[in-house]
Amino acid sequence: MSLWREILESQMGPSPADLTTDEAVAIYSDSPLYDLMFVASERRKALVPGNNVTYLVDRNINYTNVCTINCQFCSFYRSPGHIESYTQSVDQISSKIAELEEIGGSRILMQGGVNPDLPFSWYISLIEELSTRHPEIALDCFSPIEIEGIAEISGISTFEVLSRLKDAGMHGLPGGGAEMLVDQVRMGVSPKKGSSENWLRVMFEAQKLGLTTSATNVFGFGESITHRIEHLEKIRALQYTSNSRGLVGFTSFISWPVMLENNTLGKMNRGTNLIELGAGSIEYLRHVAVSRIFLSNIPHIQASWPTMGLPVAQIALSAGADDIGSTMMEENVVSASGSTRTEATIGELTKTIIEAGYDPLKRDSDYNILAHQPEIIALNS
Ligand code: SF4
Repeated sequence: MSLWREILESQMGPSPADLTTDEAVAIYSDSPLYDLMFVASERRKALVPGNNVTYLVDRNINYTNVCTINCQFCSFYRSPGHIESYTQSVDQISSKIAELEEIGGSRILMQGGVNPDLPFSWYISLIEELSTRHPEIALDCFSPIEIEGIAEISGISTFEVLSRLKDAGMHGLPGGGAEMLVDQVRMGVSPKKGSSENWLRVMFEAQKLGLTTSATNVFGFGESITHRIEHLEKIRALQYTSNSRGLVGFTSFISWPVMLENNTLGKMNRGTNLIELGAGSIEYLRHVAVSRIFLSNIPHIQASWPTMGLPVAQIALSAGADDIGSTMMEENVVSASGSTRTEATIGELTKTIIEAGYDPLKRDSDYNILAHQPEIIALNS
């Protein structure tokens, strides 16, 4: 029997042993897609029983595009003082949240750049004001690199920054900026972003404070499959550490290939074609399936429709994903690098789920089920 088949069969029992990194590399490299997706679907059924696929009604808000980190794959940021740079006011952000409330949304995902001109007091006032004006909306804000930037400007620790933001009303720290948690890859594309250790440390601090966290993974920087598994291994290890302390840890994992339009990385690639960057649909589906099988301690795997499109996200639901993601309403970071969609209606998401053979369920940021809303299809599609 071939090695990949032996490994996949070992994952079919009720509680299989965790894949080793070598085993994960073997199935990622050699398994036929169909077999990989089948086993990932079985693991999904074991971890998230039932035929439901969840979705979230939320809004992305990018409060500032000023950033000094200069990641090569980023088309969103502008340097301080650039004519196109902006920072939104509390009122501007609040009016966007009011629009989300009108469609029954439950959370905002608010991220920006590392803006050296914003003092810590600005962030605290923003979160306090938003949580007062919009008490029903979960404020999932910033990313580890923004937290590090705030800590540096204010001269306090990242833990203290997180703690005070939580006290001000912040609900969660989204897992943006993980990209590849392999320093050899990371330092090549984002040398100023800091080590993978930093990202993991800040996320662990957030988890210790009870903030809702998620894990992300951007791939396709020319890294090896072993590097990709190394990223997954670090996420799984932190999850074990957090869970062993009675913490929730990461609620979910979402991955997508790097986008290559309008950024330094894409231009370099087009100029030389020395390294193959990005990833197509088949590679993406393999990545989702291996993630589901490898990340045995993370309950929810999200499909990424903004980067892959709704049809591929739909197939990912049969490759181990149990969540289609969120409405977003606007998206400025990934879309600046070439994704074509920046929002999906509730009707589009639920229709996508139903057409794939699953039952849509509306959830909140913590994966609590909010309502079963099939009637939304008629209203929005
Ligand atoms: S990805 Fe984030 S940290 Fe990197 S340049 Fe863009 S905004 Fe800045």
